[in-house]
Amino acid sequence: MIQKILIANRGEIALRVLRAAKELGISTVAVHSTADADAMHVKLADESVCIGPPPARDSYLNIHQIVAACEITGADAIHPGYGFLSENSKFADILEAHDITFIGPKADHIRIMGDKIEAKRTAKRLGIPVVPGSEGGIYDDDEAKRVAADVGYPVLVKASSGGGGRGMKLARSEDELSNALATARTEAKAAFGDDAVYIEKYLGKPRHIEVQVVGDGMGKAIHLGERDCSLQRRHQKVWEEANSPALNSEDRNRIGEICSKAVADLNYSGAGTIEFLFEDGEFYFIEMNTRLQVEHPVTEAITGIDLVHEQIRVASGGGLSLTQDDVRFSGHAIECRINAEDPKTFVPSPGVISHFHTPGGLGVRVDSGVYSGYRIPPYYDSLIGKLIVHGRNRVECMMRLRRALDEFVVDGISSTLPLFRDLVGNPDIANGDYDIHWLEHYLRGEA
Ligand code: ADP
Repeated sequence: MIQKILIANRGEIALRVLRAAKELGISTVAVHSTADADAMHVKLADESVCIGPPPARDSYLNIHQIVAACEITGADAIHPGYGFLSENSKFADILEAHDITFIGPKADHIRIMGDKIEAKRTAKRLGIPVVPGSEGGIYDDDEAKRVAADVGYPVLVKASSGGGGRGMKLARSEDELSNALATARTEAKAAFGDDAVYIEKYLGKPRHIEVQVVGDGMGKAIHLGERDCSLQRRHQKVWEEANSPALNSEDRNRIGEICSKAVADLNYSGAGTIEFLFEDGEFYFIEMNTRLQVEHPVTEAITGIDLVHEQIRVASGGGLSLTQDDVRFSGHAIECRINAEDPKTFVPSPGVISHFHTPGGLGVRVDSGVYSGYRIPPYYDSLIGKLIVHGRNRVECMMRLRRALDEFVVDGISSTLPLFRDLVGNPDIANGDYDIHWLEHYLRGEA
């Protein structure tokens, strides 16, 4: 059994994990950089350790310091949250060597899913539908031309080590292909030190739909339905909802069953998300994230299942607390990511939050690590909180969201709250009628 968890993260997710650990009667250790000494997760943890100066590479990404903090405090497990070291297979290997439990999947699974070519090959082998394209990496232009002609233009050239949308190039015709290959390779080499690329059919108006899975590492797995994260800006999710307004229950069950079976066959342990593009009734795998996602609370809202509890149970060897038949979906949930950014230009807005008031009432959850008087340091991402609203159906959820957004006060800095107040009144959003390009069009005044 896990007795003490060190949380190798900061902000709202550190607090989220801390809450789950406390509920299970497990002691908590916060780690923090010198910039985060006043952070809420540090105040609420049983113990805390300063692991270095503000830059993440010297603190939250400093494996040596984090392992040392475990040894000093006697923590027997680490929860990595999301970002930072959460998908670093080397970190998982090192913890294993130190006999510290990593609350996440096995290092090999992180490694496979971190390499897009390998991930796609694995997905296909497990019966998950993938985007038509090259079988593996593309190493010469003639091969590229053959594949592209086969799948049909437009095509995307994607970097195997890609992330955050980098190393991705569109070719509308054969004339553009050589150029796209060369630029994608150069960009990928510069950003990731790996110039392996592959080709995929470009989908014009897809939605982003992802399936939440949890495996016990011993051949059992469940799915907790999907989330629709199509509202994105620069490939960053802004608003997420469950269920997806675009799926019917047949699509939902079909993709859920495919995913849980695949994860069971992999002997995958812990929480994971299988991401798809969805167009004209078909799902196309794009990647698997081997960690807890920012948007996991919408799934918790419609299932009543605490995903961090499940992660901790599985990592302790206790298996899952429920079977697929125990999973019940109820109502609709929406999450808005509130960032400390200008709502029009999205320029980060660090500084002191003079007043912070969160909404409450039935069906309203706020996950945030900030408080009135808190100074947002300029070193990390700009997420200051997540508003998650649940209703018995999408209409009730939207009504409640509008009300909750009205109550939310963030003074002293700019936040993206005004953007959500606009979105909640938009007819396309009210109808659930949007694809992955909708928000960018809207922000350019075209939607
Ligand atoms: P990354 O890891 O860089 O974020 P993904 O493969 O997850 O890369 O893709 C990021 C985004 O790029 C997707 O959410 C989607 O908006 C777009 N995208 C990826 N593959 C395709 C495709 N085959 N067709 C159209 N858009 C795509």
